[in-house]
Amino acid sequence: MKRVAILGATGSVGEATLRVIRRHTDRFRVGVLTANRRWEALDALALEWDPEFVVLGTEPPDGFAPRWSGEWRTGPGALEGAARTRGVDLVLNALVGFAGLGPTLAALGAGKRLALANKESLVAGGKLVVRALREGGGELLPVDSEHSAVHQCLDGRPVSEVARITLTASGGPFRTWPAPRLAEVRPADALSHPTWSMGSKITIDSATLANKALEVIEAHILFGLPYERIDVVVHPTSIIHSVVEFHDGSSLAQLGRPSMEIPILWALGYPERLEDPRVEPGFDPLRDGPLEFEPVREDVFPLFRAGVAAGKAGGEFPVAFNAANEVAVESFLSGRIGFQELAGVVIRTLEQFSSRPISSVEDARHVDARARSVARKSARGMGSGDAEPRTEESETTE
Ligand code: NDP
Repeated sequence: MKRVAILGATGSVGEATLRVIRRHTDRFRVGVLTANRRWEALDALALEWDPEFVVLGTEPPDGFAPRWSGEWRTGPGALEGAARTRGVDLVLNALVGFAGLGPTLAALGAGKRLALANKESLVAGGKLVVRALREGGGELLPVDSEHSAVHQCLDGRPVSEVARITLTASGGPFRTWPAPRLAEVRPADALSHPTWSMGSKITIDSATLANKALEVIEAHILFGLPYERIDVVVHPTSIIHSVVEFHDGSSLAQLGRPSMEIPILWALGYPERLEDPRVEPGFDPLRDGPLEFEPVREDVFPLFRAGVAAGKAGGEFPVAFNAANEVAVESFLSGRIGFQELAGVVIRTLEQFSSRPISSVEDARHVDARARSVARKSARGMGSGDAEPRTEESETTE
């Protein structure tokens, strides 16, 4: 019986994880659950799972009156404490954004097995995460579907045998749109993803392809491959999640329907493949073919190229890219800037940063805060203010 802490339990990945655990209560026990603001949703989960304690990332609002009578902790420090909890075997980090970095470092520093969906902690934490993994003796398992695919194809083989990896991208809702039409995009359009149902931030990142740039950096950190050996190809149906080409000319790919439950199962059960009675059928060549591919339209989606360049340049750049992108997404969702202005906010912010190495988590926090401040000013400066007001968040279940 493994005890699991689920950070971001009320989100899309958190909910998918709990759906998986509901089918495997003989193997997993929920030890800790966290949310940020949505205390009622967390309360309902706590009533169902009766964990050791729960954490809210923010202070409880007026009217906070939970039905679950167990222990409620609050604040970022409590999130890190949740990641270190004694008796928890596995921490699943499904927080969104830079807020995930502290808990990632805490879990690895405490020697935990960390199932990591929060790609932003790898992008902003880079070498700090690698160091915490080495020094803390923990274990890092990717949950992001493309990286889970690479991990599954490698299955313990050394990365020295790998010639290149290819991450697939759905291309997002505007894959085929001519560039001028992107001026018409409203938040509701961008929140409608063709193949995946996810939280709002990653859904916007998928529409701009910033998500794929974050994933290239994530792959570089996770697998230690140089950027020149990480490719991206658009694969509109999201059936192949990644391809690993070995030096002997063989390529292995991982295929499956676009459901986060598959990489979550892998991370929870690793190294075992758990038998799962899920309804979703596996890959069927007749139904799921043909498998088609296209190049990324880098000229139409400039955040892809800017993000990969930030990763390659290193130092402050990936931290600033991530922070500015978070601000740009918030500004777009709240109607302060248009879709085509997202890239400008990020690229103008990057101009204020350098490749100076990040030496500590405080240093990363400082660069993150400075980049947010520059990006906010930039968003205020370019906001047309005529975009649609914020819509409800996208569905958080698949
Ligand atoms: P959601 O927005 O659906 O959920 C985020 C979760 O984190 C919620 O529980 C939210 O709490 C909590 N949270 C948000 N901000 C904070 C904060 N500042 N401090 C503490 N808790 C916070 O996100 P997703 O599940 O879509 O994504 C989670 C991570 O997984 C992201 O890094 C994403 O890139 C990655 N990922 C997601 C995939 C998906 O299919 N969704 C696929 C691959 C990767 P509350 O509900 O209270 O707001």
